[in-house]
Amino acid sequence: MKKIRKVLCTITAAALMAVTFTACSNSSSSGDGEKKGEIKFGTNAEFPPFEYVVAKGVIGEFDGIDMAIAKQIADDNDKEAKIENMEFDSLLVALDNGKIDAAIAGMTVTDERKEKVDFSDTYYNAKQVMIVKEDSDIAKASDMKDKKIVVIQGYTGETCVKELGYSYQSFKKGTEAILEIVNGKCDVVVIDSATADKYVKDNKGLKIVEDNDQFANEEYAIAVKKGNKELLDQINKTLKKMKDDGKIAELATKYLDAEDK
Ligand code: GLN
Repeated sequence: MKKIRKVLCTITAAALMAVTFTACSNSSSSGDGEKKGEIKFGTNAEFPPFEYVVAKGVIGEFDGIDMAIAKQIADDNDKEAKIENMEFDSLLVALDNGKIDAAIAGMTVTDERKEKVDFSDTYYNAKQVMIVKEDSDIAKASDMKDKKIVVIQGYTGETCVKELGYSYQSFKKGTEAILEIVNGKCDVVVIDSATADKYVKDNKGLKIVEDNDQFANEEYAIAVKKGNKELLDQINKTLKKMKDDGKIAELATKYLDAEDK
């Protein structure tokens, strides 16, 4: 009897070990192998084609040009890319208090922001444009003077309209702003060019009006906490590679044409 129990015990132990081993090997063989830590990227996933939420994106449910860049930066450093989705206005604070390591959000480099964070090399050129109804008589920035203007809170578009001295209404999300113009509740939305292209492509009856005398060229970069040179160098290395081999241009075309925003 004793002997049988001993044998049973041995078998049970062996079976348990096998299960444990299988479980371990399963978890380590999933994905693309063991990563040495993670990079926490903050974004505001309301800015197609740079970042938006889908069922299955390049990083979890997040997709877009910036998300593909973030993944590449993490991959190049053998790290996992984690996305913290938050309001655009919160990104710089989140960097400062260490909630995120980098902010990647179609963020324009400005002198004001440069005082708070360090920026990577730039990776995309944009400018503010006006989204209007197809039959609108707005042809230049000064035509907005007595019109109902909508901007998105904290975006450079808000700063531009403020500088013009015109009154405006601000929304937290681009999609909310677009709904306003689609529903005829405002006359014009001032927003970044690539995002405007995407919205006009996806919504009927809208067009883009440019005013290059009024709206200056803007450049997007990734922000890190002041002094985080190690991460900044890693980011710049990947950006250089992706710019040199045409990958960023390729991503821009791909995501501008994507249907699933
Ligand atoms: N480029 C604009 C800015 O930096 C908008 C960025 C964004 O909404 N993600 O303010």
